[in-house]
Amino acid sequence: MVSRELKKIALDRIDRLMDFAKKHATERPEIAREAIILAVRIAQKARVRIPRKYKRMFCRKCGTPFWTPNSFTVRVRDRRSTHIVIKCLKCGYIKRIPVKKKPKTHEPHN
Ligand SMILES: [Zn+2]
Repeated sequence: MVSRELKKIALDRIDRLMDFAKKHATERPEIAREAIILAVRIAQKARVRIPRKYKRMFCRKCGTPFWTPNSFTVRVRDRRSTHIVIKCLKCGYIKRIPVKKKPKTHEPHN
């Protein structure tokens, strides 16, 4: 059993590791990568999800942070449905993110 308290601690650590990774992604990409791999491991152990805001910020396969310059390419494909294709230049992993064309929503503007 994983307690709620533990999940909170885990999320807090993930937060800090991601922050760390972001800070060091440019000068020390290897350390940033290790921080991300660690964060993923913590998430698995505590059975929490990596917060959405971070999920797209690193390669799921090798953990390379996409904050690192030249670590990925982005393309937009528009065939049957529009989606963004992100390719990790480190391991070649390809991630597709569907883009939903938003109808007029009531989402608040910042
Ligand atoms: Zn990768």
